[in-house]
Amino acid sequence: MRFDAVPRPDAVGARPRDARGYPVPAITPWVGEEPRFALTDHGRSAECARERLCSVCGTLMPRGPVWRVVGATEAGAVGAALAAGLPYRNMAPTSEGPGHRACMLYAAMVCPYLARPNARRGVGAEHPDELTSHVVRGTARGALGAVVGFAEYEFAVTANRTLFRFLDVLEFLPYDTSDTLLAELRAELARGGQERR
Ligand SMILES: [Zn+2]
Repeated sequence: MRFDAVPRPDAVGARPRDARGYPVPAITPWVGEEPRFALTDHGRSAECARERLCSVCGTLMPRGPVWRVVGATEAGAVGAALAAGLPYRNMAPTSEGPGHRACMLYAAMVCPYLARPNARRGVGAEHPDELTSHVVRGTARGALGAVVGFAEYEFAVTANRTLFRFLDVLEFLPYDTSDTLLAELRAELARGGQERR
């Protein structure tokens, strides 16, 4: 699916665009007119964490669950924990911040690296369409990813990074291709998406 054919949450539609029309996530740094999708802006990331702003659209996340997109390894760990009836927690903190359910469903669909099984994160122009590279930075992409809802997040702002930990899995939406997320995204937007949760 082309990125501009994927239904967009309103707050994502209001984001600044790059030259190709891709919405630029809230935590992406800019150098002049150029967004640097592969990087996370420390100040923006810390502000999102402190003020409970979505890392994709930059607007408030209501109290309650938050979502993120995880890669194959973590999706496997979450799935295994749920199957065993055990709590899951990412014990190694991540610099990937949380977002609205609609925003993370959208991000999982629009980023080609997230959306294609076995796609791997490239450098430079090889995979230029990485709206959500912050979500997957440093993660090898396997045959499966997942959009995961958590009860809450914790964070710590260090000198040069903001680190997150996510608590209590509430929702687990594994996918093999992002098209399987389209129905969820449409339903979420029809329910009011980011406004409601
Ligand atoms: Zn959002």
